[in-house]
Amino acid sequence: MLSTKNLSHSYKGTQAFNFPDLLCQPSETLLVIGQSGVGKSTLLHILAGILIPTKGEVLINDTSLYKQKTNALDTFRGQNIGMIFQKPHFVQAVSAVENLFLAQTMANKAKDTKRVHTLLDQLNISNRATAKTYQMSQGEQQRLSIARALVNNPKLILADEPTSALDDSNCNEVIQLLKHQAEAVNAALVIVTHDSRLKDIFPNQLELN
Ligand code: ADP
Ligand code: MG
Repeated sequence: MLSTKNLSHSYKGTQAFNFPDLLCQPSETLLVIGQSGVGKSTLLHILAGILIPTKGEVLINDTSLYKQKTNALDTFRGQNIGMIFQKPHFVQAVSAVENLFLAQTMANKAKDTKRVHTLLDQLNISNRATAKTYQMSQGEQQRLSIARALVNNPKLILADEPTSALDDSNCNEVIQLLKHQAEAVNAALVIVTHDSRLKDIFPNQLELN
């Protein structure tokens, strides 16, 4: 379960963003909506353990994210949090499937070939397993991002504008895959977006302004 308390962040010399407390249970999806510039990516990076907030606390089950030492936080993040960035970025030198193995290695997990191939299958990109990521279409790269976020069976999945670059049919497909995959590993899913197409799909919404 994910919860936050009194989160606030100000970049150096700028006005503070004060975020409402949020709560997301396993297998649930929380949609955080708001216009560009309201701090959606800032909030997501704080939830991901990659941006230390100026104030407040992020709790994942009983762990307070930023009360851990840096090394412990890195390991915790790798094992418990899956992040889908707005613009997919991968290690370009290796194939799609190798990018998934790398994500396992970086989380100190054993290489799990079965898990990797199951995900590629479920996300309909097993035919692209040996492709370099720059050879894949935008929709395929977005699905590979989902596979990477899921590969270590995280407790929390975070997605930053996962559909904003996709046409309607890819948008729908990516969202359904994300939702089903998150449910399959019993993860809490937080999506931040300004994409109004998602408003009808996820009833649990929080608006930032
Ligand atoms: P959103 O994702 O809702 O569009 P962001 O969280 O990316 O919003 O950014 C919110 C505001 O914070 C923007 O005005 C942006 O310019 C500013 N900002 C984002 N990152 C930094 C940074 N590293 N340093 C200073 N200002 C930043
Ligand atoms: Mg953003």
